[in-house]
Amino acid sequence: MTAAGEPGTGQALAAIRAALGQAGHALPGSITIRHTRCGKARCACKASPPALHGPYIQWTRTASGKTVTRNLTPAQYQAYRPWIDNARRLRELAAELEALSLAEMARAEGWAKITPGSDTPPRTRLIRVPRRDRQPKRPEPPGDQPA
Ligand SMILES: [Zn+2]
Repeated sequence: MTAAGEPGTGQALAAIRAALGQAGHALPGSITIRHTRCGKARCACKASPPALHGPYIQWTRTASGKTVTRNLTPAQYQAYRPWIDNARRLRELAAELEALSLAEMARAEGWAKITPGSDTPPRTRLIRVPRRDRQPKRPEPPGDQPA
């Protein structure tokens, strides 16, 4: 793309592309390190001051819409934390690329007010389209009306 608009746009795009080109393994999710109390009444974790259990290194991610947690060993944590960091960086780069592209689109189309912060073009009116298969409106349950 040589038709880049404002000065700096091409440089920003090149920087994002360069960073993307260096991306390595990327793991979804995040890692938290927890210290916990157990259920035993007479345990050091209930003492004062408490000696909590752990640390437990927990890798949490979403898989098929469900939250999945897995404990990692310290060695696994050392090995895979950079992969988690890579994925976070990739998400940041994707967000930067989208913001840059939104700005470029707005500039190219003359949409003065479309910005990464407000992605609704100004002076857009919703047009009611009559629907052929209109469902009969369900009666509102009592008590659900605004006070
Ligand atoms: Zn305990």
